[in-house]
Amino acid sequence: MAKLFIICGHGAGDPGCCAGGCTEAERVRALGQRIKELGGSEVELGDTSRNWYADGGLNRLSTDAPVVELHMDASGIATAHGAHVIIKEGFEPDEYDNALADKLAAFMPGRSEKLVRRSDLANPNRAAARGINYRLCENGFIDNDGDREKFNGNLDELARIYLECFGITAGSAPAAVPQPQPAQQETTENFGGTYRCTVDYLRVRDAPGLGGTEVAHYSSGETVTLDNWYKIADGYVWGQYTGYSGATRYIAVGKATGKPEADDYLVKVG
Ligand SMILES: [Zn+2]
Repeated sequence: MAKLFIICGHGAGDPGCCAGGCTEAERVRALGQRIKELGGSEVELGDTSRNWYADGGLNRLSTDAPVVELHMDASGIATAHGAHVIIKEGFEPDEYDNALADKLAAFMPGRSEKLVRRSDLANPNRAAARGINYRLCENGFIDNDGDREKFNGNLDELARIYLECFGITAGSAPAAVPQPQPAQQETTENFGGTYRCTVDYLRVRDAPGLGGTEVAHYSSGETVTLDNWYKIADGYVWGQYTGYSGATRYIAVGKATGKPEADDYLVKVG
């Protein structure tokens, strides 16, 4: 019987937080896969093609095993760092929660509280309502260079922390693909259209990413028609259009959260 059920956060089109060429969805899947490879039959890896938050999977999950949901934080200020464990407000941490909080905080120190109680998160609430033994682990900050490099360079060590906390003997399966994947680049039929600028000064660049040179700018209220193309780079979603000169131009639509947000720099109007 499985001693641990793993849910990998985000996915199914939601990249989660993005920084340094990494997406949270891909990284926590790499970690979940490694926990499964090293833990063998005592680990059950939930379907990684799904977004368990969006599809409400915990409302239907049937398992007697304790559940861990894997995530990475982002702060937007680059200096925040450290791992922590989230449990449902009103619950006392059990032996798994305490072990995870201690070991993850030792592996990635930096948070003042290594164990936090929350009442405003859907999946801890869903699990609590169904009596599922559950915790959500933030495996450091993806937009902190130190945390991200520690995560990427020590994936097996991190995976073994989870196995140890749940009393599972780690095997020695060779690492399949421990390297971070490059940021995704996609074409999507629903992306293109007319967008209105919501900020006073929005840079137009000659390449997607903060390294692109500024070649023009948009002001609040102006509109731009973007192609069916976007790229996630440096934590932002970049759209493209063809400028009057015929050159391809790139512009930040907003922070890469996996969905349109109220504070995006460009809001689709047509
Ligand atoms: Zn997340």
